[in-house]
Amino acid sequence: MRALLVEDDAEIAADIAQALMGAGFLVEKAADGEAAWFAGDTEDFDVAILDLGLPKLDGLSVLKRWRASGRSFPVLVLSARSAWTEKVDGIEAGADDYLGKPFELGELTARVRALVRRAGGYAAPVLTVGRLTLDTRRMSVAVDGAAHRVSPLEYRMLDYLAHQPGRVVSAGELAEHLHGAETAVDANAIEALIARVRRKIGADIIETRRGFGYALSET
Ligand code: CA
Repeated sequence: MRALLVEDDAEIAADIAQALMGAGFLVEKAADGEAAWFAGDTEDFDVAILDLGLPKLDGLSVLKRWRASGRSFPVLVLSARSAWTEKVDGIEAGADDYLGKPFELGELTARVRALVRRAGGYAAPVLTVGRLTLDTRRMSVAVDGAAHRVSPLEYRMLDYLAHQPGRVVSAGELAEHLHGAETAVDANAIEALIARVRRKIGADIIETRRGFGYALSET
């Protein structure tokens, strides 16, 4: 999962990024409102964490612009003040959740995971697609109830596919969500990753749709 972290305080940003990376997210940072607006408007993220007090363009305006141009990824708003009016403004501008500073990093990662989960249509933290089960809290994988050991990258690939129910995902899209838009990862590397995971958890769990991409088997 690819997260856009918008926070101008470098220390707080570093702490949040570390916590999110530990929870299996690929984190890309923006330190001002203009950079944030541009990144969210032109690239594909699974979730954004958006501070409201930002240089150049405030967070609320960033959020309004994203929503006005049809960007629908879930957004968790952060604010130094816990004033209820700010919370209402954020929600009305299109925020999906709100966290007042200071906060516990564990609460932030739990909320971010929940937003991503709900955007993928899941109510509970354990995801089931066909014979595959992913526990998003423990980042663990099971097939037919039997646990399988996978690397963090392999887990993130399965997690991303599980969050796109009924949709075929291209190798390019997988590369962007696992490695970022700036990192050049070719289709062969994605193919090799898929092959590795198939050897570990069973060949038929991930289906290949020729010319289109990959999807988890729903049976
Ligand atoms: Ca700030």
